[in-house]
Amino acid sequence: MPRRISRRIIEETYRMIKNYHERHLAVHGVKLPILENAAGYTKDALTLIYLAQGYPNTRAVSKEELTQFIRSYYPNTNDVQQARHLGAQKGWFIAAGSRDNRDVHLERGEYQLVSLERPYPAFHGHRAAEAAGWEELKAAYGYRCATCGSREGEYHLHWPNTRTRLQMAHMNPLRGLVPGNIIPQCQKCNRADRNNWVYDERGRVIKVANAQVIKRSDREVRWRAYQILYREFNGRNPNE
Ligand SMILES: [Zn+2]
Repeated sequence: MPRRISRRIIEETYRMIKNYHERHLAVHGVKLPILENAAGYTKDALTLIYLAQGYPNTRAVSKEELTQFIRSYYPNTNDVQQARHLGAQKGWFIAAGSRDNRDVHLERGEYQLVSLERPYPAFHGHRAAEAAGWEELKAAYGYRCATCGSREGEYHLHWPNTRTRLQMAHMNPLRGLVPGNIIPQCQKCNRADRNNWVYDERGRVIKVANAQVIKRSDREVRWRAYQILYREFNGRNPNE
């Protein structure tokens, strides 16, 4: 009979889930349950943690086993629905027996966490939730391009014949389109050329992302850059 997991394992597993969530699931609108509230660990968090043990080598867990586990925290629990809800409704990729045996083979009444890097395949809220995240981000910027300030749907500030469309743009083009690396930019600011630059959350260029752009700079600037790098790398021959 499954008993409580130690606080240390609970917190470690939750931290692992949180990391995967930040990197892979938040952008799809999947919500991370809070670990604790006034009553103690939340049932959603306990369920996820129980299923995520040993990730990526998870195993099938029966509803009975899961119920026993949750009961060790909430003795009055009858029938644990968390695993099903976390899957189909909330977007966590938890397969359920007899429903989606495409990825794992499960018996009826069994659950298995398939992946923390992809949302549940038939996640109905997927598009809406994704849009919700994106809508929220745009709202935070007043529906304006982070870089030039043109407003979505209105005429562009610098191209008066163009309607502004906001797009998900990387802050740092060397990183993925993941939460924390996305700003809204208009179609004019979000062009191929922008991959040369790293932007901050205010849409301003803060770094060079492509060393080739130095070639476009004036000779004095290139000379100055050469001096700086020559000093930094102690005059080392780059072809060595
Ligand atoms: Zn713009």
